[in-house]
Amino acid sequence: MLVPAPRPATAPAFPSIASWLEIDATALRRNLEAMRRVMGPGVRIGSVVKGNAYGHGLAETLPALHAAADVLYVITPQDAFAIRDHERRHGAPRRQVLVLGPAGVEETIALAREEVDLVVADASFAAIVPALREAGLDAPLRAHLHIDTGLGREGFTLADVPARTAFLTGATDVVRVAGVLSHFANTEDVTDQEYATSQLNALEEAIRRLQAERILPANAERHVAASAAAMLLPRARLDAVRIGIATYGLWPSSETKLSARVVLGEVPKLEPVLAWRCRSQAVKWLAAGSFVGYGCTYRCDTDTRVAVLPVGYFDGYPRLVSGRAHVLVNGHRCPVLGRVMMNHIVVDVTRAATDDAPVVATLIGHDGHDAISVEQLANWAQTINYEVVTRLGAHLQRVVR
Ligand SMILES: *Cc1c(COP(=O)(O)O)cnc(C)c1O
Repeated sequence: MLVPAPRPATAPAFPSIASWLEIDATALRRNLEAMRRVMGPGVRIGSVVKGNAYGHGLAETLPALHAAADVLYVITPQDAFAIRDHERRHGAPRRQVLVLGPAGVEETIALAREEVDLVVADASFAAIVPALREAGLDAPLRAHLHIDTGLGREGFTLADVPARTAFLTGATDVVRVAGVLSHFANTEDVTDQEYATSQLNALEEAIRRLQAERILPANAERHVAASAAAMLLPRARLDAVRIGIATYGLWPSSETKLSARVVLGEVPKLEPVLAWRCRSQAVKWLAAGSFVGYGCTYRCDTDTRVAVLPVGYFDGYPRLVSGRAHVLVNGHRCPVLGRVMMNHIVVDVTRAATDDAPVVATLIGHDGHDAISVEQLANWAQTINYEVVTRLGAHLQRVVR
């Protein structure tokens, strides 16, 4: 195995910021390219940028993702408008943008005007149709019908199809059904895809019924696969895939990676996009017997050089990692001592530092030959990588490299 050359962690030029995220724009592009190679030709590659681009920063990742993806998926209308603004400011071509989440009446009209697609997930949408007529749109809203095939979340259940979607046949002047989608419940936690296959069958049945009633045109875009299914279930790739977590170089789960090896032979090379670092606020000795942090849960056995780091649970560093996590300083693993506080952690730098000069600590990412992965931090916090990255504070400075 090739050992990468040690890259010392360094701080950016502006000294005022507490902790910062480093975003590797090249890795974003390469991750989508890797997924495109796996999908083969004819499948549109969509990138899911909800949750502030999985915590990586929508504004900061958009230049790279907009260029590399065919479709962008968001939850909120606000994020869709931000993408249209980005396109106007940069003279970029209009991408297909789909709002997966709910929208109010005014927002729906604005989405139609901005040529943003919207998911229609239940019959309550019928109440918005008169307002769309009154708005005098130049072109109908492009709608994607969400079918709940077994997640039990949003969408028309099979029992609703076609009856509760029939209102759309009387609304073709303002709503054009451009797509149909569903979402899998259990592709990440398992190595057999039996439940997903039953969901696919249900989606196909819904499509048959919708086409028979002429609610869904034959050329409507069909999409169902998120990262895991896109890799593991070739039958689920349909017309477009919605790549979330893999965009950011992270695996949906370890089971997904294991299964991908079996299904694909060679797993796509996903590169983590994000590093999280900070400068120390103070470095000092604590005498043997000193306590560290709230609750006095840690007591120094020996004289201990500690670094006080300006990162806490407010920033998204989980309190549950107290007493378990490490950070990297000068390529050394440094245990987090005592509890994670709102705005601070205290780490043991006795072996990592030779004086009391400020240090740069890596909370996620490489430092020298060592690295702390998002998955490692998620394990310490008894959660999943998705939650760790999406909880990274929106206030943190994101530096694009
Ligand atoms: C979040 C989400 C995705 C992306 O899921 P990943 O596992 O992150 O790839 C796709 N589709 C829908 C509807 C989602 O909510």
